[in-house]
Amino acid sequence: MSEIVYSTAQLVGHTPLMELVNYEAVHGITAHLLAKLESYNPSGSIKDRAALQMIREAERRGDILPGDTIVEQTSGNTGIAIAALAIPMGYQVEIFLERGASLERREMLEAFGVRLLTYRDALGIRTDAERESGWQEPEREATLAEIEAYCRRQKKPHFFLNQAENRDNPRAHSLTTGPELWEQTGGKVDALVCMAGTGGTVLGLSMYLRKKNPALRVIVAQPAEESRLSAENPHCQIIDGVLPVEGVPDGDIADFVRDSHYDEAVDISAAEAFATARELAGTEGLLIGTSSAAALLAARRVCERGGFDDQNVVVIMPDNGMKYLSTPCFHRTE
Ligand code: PMP
Repeated sequence: MSEIVYSTAQLVGHTPLMELVNYEAVHGITAHLLAKLESYNPSGSIKDRAALQMIREAERRGDILPGDTIVEQTSGNTGIAIAALAIPMGYQVEIFLERGASLERREMLEAFGVRLLTYRDALGIRTDAERESGWQEPEREATLAEIEAYCRRQKKPHFFLNQAENRDNPRAHSLTTGPELWEQTGGKVDALVCMAGTGGTVLGLSMYLRKKNPALRVIVAQPAEESRLSAENPHCQIIDGVLPVEGVPDGDIADFVRDSHYDEAVDISAAEAFATARELAGTEGLLIGTSSAAALLAARRVCERGGFDDQNVVVIMPDNGMKYLSTPCFHRTE
């Protein structure tokens, strides 16, 4: 049988699950830390799954046709995924890039030929001079309503995929990531540790895996207070692509996160995540992304409290370290 594939879409999913045996040994962890290596997706992140599901379903419903423009708001990974999957299908892609996205994410989007927009485009007030001076980080992000209004104003069809509210985002994980994990572990997932942006990953996985194992523990690592962008803290080091799930105004918590009924949130700072990413490069030879590293450290902390002997603790690793080489993550200061 031929093993040739014919599109990036066919390369989405079926990512490896690797036990971090050296890391376990170094830290005396008696659980099995199982890393789901989502950087093995074709555009390099877990977001290929959500993007593919959202594009396919939008096509099936007749919301989009090749030739149309797909619009999304993203910290980068979803935009890169949409570009890699949709541009070859004949779509154009426009992205409202969230604040704080690493340089690599922006450059990847530009390399794919994506048009990068800001809230000033959404409001129709970005000048040609601003556009020509290259990408400048905007002082705020566009609201969902502003993006919808922007799409309606365009002469040619523009469709806002809206991963934050699109149920096909979590569904991608109930349909693919969850079943893969169940199969790869021979039907034994005791705990799940991940971070949350839209919350699509934690919702989709907890829905699927809790049906399989009602005793599943779901732990969400969240950026600690000092690693959250705010008016008082506008230049702090952040963990790219993720948001707090607790300790912020209710309206700032993603609906998908709330619906996931996770058991516990664990605070991790960007500096701690960076140190963990550097450590894993040496112990396992894996260059992981910063949200992967934060999830791993949260898993270690939970295991160190006890009660996970011989249990399978799955850690979601959404992308790899290549997108963070320009950030302080891999620059040793000590
Ligand atoms: N880690 C990284 C690096 C991401 O880009 C994202 C998505 N923005 C997440 C984690 C969180 O994924 P989700 O949106 O499914 O919660």
